[in-house]
Amino acid sequence: MKGFKFLYVIWAVALLTLVALVFFRFNEDKVAAINLETTSKEFGALDDSTIEEDAYVIYAQKLQGESIVAKTVNEYVNGKVNEFKDSNKGKGELKNKDKAVFKNVVDTYKVNDNIIGVRVTTMIKKAYEDTQNKTVKAFNLDVNANKEISLEDMFKSEYKDSLKDVYTDTYVLKKTGVDFIKEDYTVNNVEYNALKEYNKSKILTAMNFKISDDDYTKMISKIIDPNKKMVAITFDDGPHKVNTEQIVDILDKYGARGTFFELGQNVKLYPDITKYVYDHGNEVAIHSWDHPNLSSLSKTSIDAVRKQITDTSDIIYETIGVRPKLVRPPYGAYNSTVKSAFSESIILWNIDSLDWKSRDENQIVPLVMNSVQDGDIILLHDIHATTIPAVERIVKQLTEEDYQVITVSEMLEVKGYDMANTRVFFSGRQ
Ligand code: ZN
Repeated sequence: MKGFKFLYVIWAVALLTLVALVFFRFNEDKVAAINLETTSKEFGALDDSTIEEDAYVIYAQKLQGESIVAKTVNEYVNGKVNEFKDSNKGKGELKNKDKAVFKNVVDTYKVNDNIIGVRVTTMIKKAYEDTQNKTVKAFNLDVNANKEISLEDMFKSEYKDSLKDVYTDTYVLKKTGVDFIKEDYTVNNVEYNALKEYNKSKILTAMNFKISDDDYTKMISKIIDPNKKMVAITFDDGPHKVNTEQIVDILDKYGARGTFFELGQNVKLYPDITKYVYDHGNEVAIHSWDHPNLSSLSKTSIDAVRKQITDTSDIIYETIGVRPKLVRPPYGAYNSTVKSAFSESIILWNIDSLDWKSRDENQIVPLVMNSVQDGDIILLHDIHATTIPAVERIVKQLTEEDYQVITVSEMLEVKGYDMANTRVFFSGRQ
């Protein structure tokens, strides 16, 4: 009997210990932790705050200051915080472990002096639940222009330089490759060449990442492979009220783009067409205001030469919001005085299609295609209707021959030229 009672005591003690353990464990007065690692903080001081309420805890991270970056990030975080507060209204007093938790981190990334990439990662744990939900929001901000850069903007020449270093909600374009962001992990640095070999559905299936067809096409077509052949087609004397848009549409159809050296007086007449050219990923550059021979003009007045360029630059800037970087003097005529009148690079050509003279696609096409090589700059004119079918055939053939048909600025940059110091270009291989 005695031994039997002893066993009871042992059991009772064991049971009590277990109950006590369970009790104390459940009573642990800690808020469930959310772990979130931060990566880089290259822009703006952080502003951390903790708000504890009956039903929730908020660890919010924002940016200090009044910059566009801080404003955009803080507005977004405030919105998320308010949403979170609303969803936890009327829940009464909860034990700490049951409380809902909000935590966000802000990662900023300096793309260049003007562009700041931001990623805001938010973790939310709902009341009574253990699992956390993660969302990622990315912004790209132009601190000079004081605006958010849309995905559409990123593919314009203005932002081209930084294209490979921008954040989106689902991927980050960097200099060496792309990071794909999934809900709970990131696929790092898929190289551009590897990316090009995949087709879209493969990537989508493998990584379950969301991007519209349009964005994908733009993303891929803007990636220039420095090891592949490339060529720059240039169009002078426009914009033309009918022909220019047709040429832009042809370039678009083949995922190509060109450089349009426009006359200021025509931009003034047809600003919408200049916008159309630019909005389709082409480069708009300066020809002059009304097509004088600048060499001759320089003998009477250097100011008149300068005015031809600055007036045209101004109207292009007014029309598309971007300063053109290149000048092609009419007739290719320049001298040292002309060169000293402005600071933009002078772009000539090494393949003359003579389209203005022959007005015949059967002469224009072989003239270009029989001599074209990697790095060439081809001269055409978008004011002649007879040039349109020639452009279609040239671009089609170039694409079939694996040429990347890109803008002059893109080509010279990929080829490694310092645009500020090399002033006159005939091609991308001089
Ligand atoms: Zn011209």
